[in-house]
Parts: sequence; structure tokens; C-alpha cells
Amino acid sequence: MAKPIPCDADLLFVESLASGTVHIAVRYRAGHLAQDQVIETVTGGGAFVAMAVAPMVTRCGKRTFPQFERDHEKTTRFSDDRLCRACYRTLTVQDQERAFEHDQPEDAGDTAST
Ligand SMILES: [Zn+2]
Repeated sequence: MAKPIPCDADLLFVESLASGTVHIAVRYRAGHLAQDQVIETVTGGGAFVAMAVAPMVTRCGKRTFPQFERDHEKTTRFSDDRLCRACYRTLTVQDQERAFEHDQPEDAGDTAST
């Protein structure tokens, strides 16, 4: 079931360059992670490396590694119909509104038809 995204978390849009589909990922601010995970990993060593390479998991369960991959790219400008429906369905109503807080492409060309 849909869980609301904390208001201090960032909604990220990750475009699959192969399909053009834009997936939604949530990045939690450091404060959330600091609660327990960091302390635990600092004692084990390599904490910051582990965090840096952690995959970003989109709402529909797809893992991406934006730091390394060339197949996915963060984006802030895309048309609504490219939004991944599987991702979108996981959002609460409030978060669905946030999913549309992105820029529209300006070079669509035929926007004058309405
Ligand atoms: Zn998706």
C-alpha cells in the first residue's frame, strides 16, 4: 500500500534512456539515514563508500545506479505521459501531486493545438 513520502525527502525523476520512461525515486535526506544505519556502518568501516554506491531504487522496484550508469539519467523536464505508471501508482494522492512538479519540455512543437 502507498506510504506517504516524508516532506523532507526529495522526489527524483530518473529517465530510462532506452525507453524514455521516467521513473520516480525517493531520496531521503541524511538525517533519516543517520538514525541508525550510519553509526552501525562506521564501526564496520567503509560507511561512506557503502552509502555512495547504494543503488537508487525506483518506486516500481527498478534499481538504478545513477552515479555509474549511462542507461539512466536524472531529469527534471519531461512530459507527463512518460511518467512510469507503476511508479506513479505507488504514490499517495499528495505525492502524486508532487510527481507532476516538473518542467514540461518546451520543444514539444504541437502545444498550440489546444
Ligand atoms: Zn517505474
